[in-house]
Amino acid sequence: MATKGNISVHTENIFPIIKKFLYSDHEIFLRELVSNAVDATQKLKTLASTGEAKGELGDLKITVKVDKEAKTLHIIDKGIGMTEEEVGKYINQLAFSSAEEFLEKYQDKGAQVIGHFGLGFYSAFMVAERVELITKSYKEGSTGVKWSCDGSTQFEISDEEKEERGTEIILHFAEDSLEFNDSFRIKTILDKYCKFLPVEIEFEEKLINNTKPLWTKAPAECTKEEYEAFYKELYPFSETPLFWIHLNVDYPFKLTGILYFPKIKNEFEPTKNKIQLYSNQVFVTDSVQDIVPEFLMLLHGVIDSPDIPLNVSRSYLQSDSNVKKINSHITKKVADKMEEMFKSDRTEYNSKWESIGTFVKYGMISEEKFYERAVKFCLLQNKPGDYFTINEYKEKVAPVQTDKDGKVVFLYSNDMTAHDSFVRTVEKRGYDVMKMDGVLDNHFISNIEHKFEGVVWKRVDSESIDKLIDKDVKNESVLNEVDQTSLKETFDKQFANNGQFKFETEALAPDDQFMTLIKPEWERRMKEMQKMQGMSMDIFGVMPDSYNVVINSNHALSLKLAGLAESDERTKLMKQSFDLARLSQNLLKGEELTNFIQRNIDQL
Ligand code: ADP
Repeated sequence: MATKGNISVHTENIFPIIKKFLYSDHEIFLRELVSNAVDATQKLKTLASTGEAKGELGDLKITVKVDKEAKTLHIIDKGIGMTEEEVGKYINQLAFSSAEEFLEKYQDKGAQVIGHFGLGFYSAFMVAERVELITKSYKEGSTGVKWSCDGSTQFEISDEEKEERGTEIILHFAEDSLEFNDSFRIKTILDKYCKFLPVEIEFEEKLINNTKPLWTKAPAECTKEEYEAFYKELYPFSETPLFWIHLNVDYPFKLTGILYFPKIKNEFEPTKNKIQLYSNQVFVTDSVQDIVPEFLMLLHGVIDSPDIPLNVSRSYLQSDSNVKKINSHITKKVADKMEEMFKSDRTEYNSKWESIGTFVKYGMISEEKFYERAVKFCLLQNKPGDYFTINEYKEKVAPVQTDKDGKVVFLYSNDMTAHDSFVRTVEKRGYDVMKMDGVLDNHFISNIEHKFEGVVWKRVDSESIDKLIDKDVKNESVLNEVDQTSLKETFDKQFANNGQFKFETEALAPDDQFMTLIKPEWERRMKEMQKMQGMSMDIFGVMPDSYNVVINSNHALSLKLAGLAESDERTKLMKQSFDLARLSQNLLKGEELTNFIQRNIDQL
C-alpha cells in the first residue's frame, strides 16, 4: 500500500535553502551518502558481534554506480537497512540523527559511527530533483520499503520487492547538476573523500579505497617502509620525508594520524596546506589552519579526529576547547620527537638540520610553548660548518667574544661571500662567525635575542672591528687629533654625497683595513622591519642606504695622506682608496665602476 505524507519541517521551503546555502561545495553530497552507507554497514557488524543480527553477513561491499543514460546515481549498501517505521523516523524527521541514539547504546562495543556532518541524507537534494530510497532491514521478517521524494516537503512511501538486506539510494540528477552525471567526476569525488573509508567501496568494478590506512594501526606495528609507502600514497610526486610522528591519543580527546616532515629547503610557502583532516576516515578538509598550529602547517600527512566539530564557523573552531587541546598536543608531540632525535643521535640530527631548521625557527618565533622546548635543540651553524645549540655556542665563544660589559657577542653573517673582508678581519682576532642566511634568520634573531640575557647578536659588517666587540682597549693613534679631523673633513668634502657616507677616524691596528664601510646594526634592522611591513615609501625607504666609513688612522695610507698637501696626487689617492673600499663591499656600480676600471687599465 502506497502512502503519502508530509515531512515535518518548520518551513515549507527547506530544500531551496539546502541547495543554496548549506554547503558551498555541492560535491559533498556524495561524502554524506557514502558515509551513511558505511555507518549502516558498521552498525550491522556491531550488531552481529553482539548476536543481535543473525545469520551470515555476506559480502558487505558498498557499490556506487552512475547510469549516464537514466541520469541517476546509485549508492548501494548491505548494512542494517530500515523498516518502514524507521524510514519514517530517520528519513522523514529532518536532521534527526539515529547515530546519536545508536552510539549511546553501543558505545563500549566500539562502533565506528561517522555521522554528525550536518544535514547528511538531505544534502542529496543539492544535486537531485528526485531521491529514491529502497531499503530492507536486517531484522527478521522484514520486507522492502521504497521512499521517494521530489524535493518538496511531500514524500511517498510504498512496499517494494527487495531481496537483499540493506539500502539503495537513487539520485535523479537535477538539470542544473548534470555535471555530476559523469563517471570521471564521481570517481574524483570518491577519491577525495572516500579513499580511506573503513568499508570496501566499489566503483566501476574497482575498489576505490584503502580500508585500513596506516594511521589506524598501532605505531608499534608499523615499519619504516610502511610509513614511506603511505607517504607516497598520499603524495605520489614528493620526495621521501625526513621522519614522521604517529599520533595516537585516546583521552581526553580522540586523535590519530601521521605527520610527516618533508625536506624543507630555504623557503616554506609552497609546501603549506598538505595536511588532511579526517573524521573516522572520512576526508573533511585540507585547510587545517585552526586545528594545527601555524608553524606546523609546513608538515604533511593526515590527522583524524571525531572530536573536531566539522560543520562550524572558523571563529567557533578557534575557541573550541578540544581544538585547543589538539593543537597543543600536536605541538608537544613534535617537540618530543625532535628532542628524542637530538638526544639519541646527534650526528644524524645535525645532518637533518638544514631541512628542519627553518621549521624549528618558525615554531620558536610563533609559539612560546614550542620555543621553550626547542631552545634546547635549535642549532646554529658557524662558518666552518659545525653545529652548536645556542648554549653550546655561547660557551664556545665566550672566552674571546665577551665585551667590556660582560656581554657575549654573537657575530653572524647572512652572506659570507659579500662579507668576506669583514669575516677575515674578525677571524684574524680569533672570533667566530655564524652563518645566518635562512629566509627567517633576521626575524629569528630579533625575536629570540632579548630572551637570552648576556648575549648580543651583531652582523659582522655592523661596526669596525674594535667596536664590534668593544673590549675597551684604546689603541694609541699615531695621527694627532688635528690631523685626524682634517683627514676626515677632506674625505667628507669630496665624497659625503649628501650624507650618504659619513666619515670618521678610528685608531685600529696598522694591519687592519684602511677603510671600512659599515652599516650600524639598529639602522639596518629598522630598514629590514620597514621592508617587511611594506613601508618602503616612507622617508627611510626612499633615501639611499647610508654608510659609516671608518678610516683607520694608524694605517700607513693615513699617515701618507696626512703628509700630503692638497694636490692632484692626493685627490687621486683618496679617490682610489674610497673606490676600493666600496668595491670590496660590492657598492661600486654603474658608471663609477666603469670609470674605476678604465682608470686602472690606463695605468697598466
Ligand atoms: P546522520 O547520518 O547524521 O544521522 P542523515 O540525515 O545522514 O543524518 O541520516 C539520518 C538517519 O537515516 C541516519 O542516522 C540513519 O539512521 C538513517 N540512514 C541514512 N542512510 C542510511 C543507510 N544507508 N542505511 C541505513 N540507515 C540510513
